[in-house]
Amino acid sequence: MQINETQLKQVDAQVKRLLDSNHFYGARLREAGITGVSSTDDFLALPFCEKEDLREAYPLGLSAVPEREIVRIHSSSGTTGTPVIIPYTHKDVDDWAIQFARCFEYAGITPADRIQITPGYGLWTAGIGFQAGCELLGAMAIPMGPGNTDRQLQFMIDMKSTVLCATSSYALLLAEEIERRDVKDKICLERGIIGSERWGEKMRNRIKNELGVKIYDIYGLTEIYGPGIGISCEYDVGMHIWDDFVYCEIIDPETEEVLPDGEWGEIVLTTLVKEGAPLIRFRTHDLSRIIPGDCPCGSHHPRVEAISGRSDDMMKIKGVNVFPKQIEEVLQTFPELSSEFQIRISHLDGRDTMRIYVETNGSVDWNDLRARVAQRIRSKLGFTPLVKIVELGVLPRSEKKTKRVFDERHR
Ligand code: ZN
Repeated sequence: MQINETQLKQVDAQVKRLLDSNHFYGARLREAGITGVSSTDDFLALPFCEKEDLREAYPLGLSAVPEREIVRIHSSSGTTGTPVIIPYTHKDVDDWAIQFARCFEYAGITPADRIQITPGYGLWTAGIGFQAGCELLGAMAIPMGPGNTDRQLQFMIDMKSTVLCATSSYALLLAEEIERRDVKDKICLERGIIGSERWGEKMRNRIKNELGVKIYDIYGLTEIYGPGIGISCEYDVGMHIWDDFVYCEIIDPETEEVLPDGEWGEIVLTTLVKEGAPLIRFRTHDLSRIIPGDCPCGSHHPRVEAISGRSDDMMKIKGVNVFPKQIEEVLQTFPELSSEFQIRISHLDGRDTMRIYVETNGSVDWNDLRARVAQRIRSKLGFTPLVKIVELGVLPRSEKKTKRVFDERHR
């Protein structure tokens, strides 16, 4: 998806503002001798930026406007030390709501809907973004935030929520709880807006079937507004990205070369009209591909495939490059396993060992299942893992992102 004339002009305006500011990227542009962008080649010459650059700008170094124009900040959860602070101007907050309302519209939501919002509120961008989009659309927001499953279900029933916004893990937890309590006939949900986590087809189908909803994948990250910069439509063939706000490229994560449409690589995003914290060619480390051709829904917003993993999730086991997604795909071929799994990698007696924990019920022969899973992974990936079987429900389900890979080699 080549950058178009309008987008080039927008990037040029952002570049010029960054050059005039104390922003780290402005300094990087000056070092590279870049003064503006007027062609595709100019754009491709712009340097990438990384989350690490953003962290170094703490606290307000990402701001490209006078500080008095900042109306809000959000912060992305850093796993290490210093958080990343993203400043928003009034326009940024408005633009985010416009994008979010469009997401809801693409998901077929109308002002008649009641949207139960379970992502967190506060520094994290999620909850408030869902709410702003809901209110702009004119639907009813039920701002629950995460946790307290009893109250979630009570409100879901009494307020007759028609839309559930949740992470896939939490949607699954709620679905299982609804089944356990046998209250499915009291639930009015029609749609699930599920985001912020890579998830397999199996988990998706369980949520879809157990909640009886149509599911839409929403995309976004705190560094670029937050969730809501794209969503899948009713045809469920990839997520449309709002290319009037964000320009999307796919690069080879190793060589940083831009890949043609259709090829898998890392999503790189450029904000087009952001004031508070414009980002140019930000490496998301999310793996996906641009889907070539037009969507049957008729929308011209480009589409990316649901996120298949993180470029930094790649594990090197016995010299073989492995993505969690590949393990998951093998596990999904076993109907007797649940959608949950956990991978633990350790270094024992001079050798890398991968243990995979999977869940099943008591009705199958565990020894036989263990051997079959190990064999199928060996034939697909070229090494034999230790397969550990546990009872259904033993592996953790969380309200936020479920961590599935634990590399214990470097401790
Ligand atoms: Zn579509």
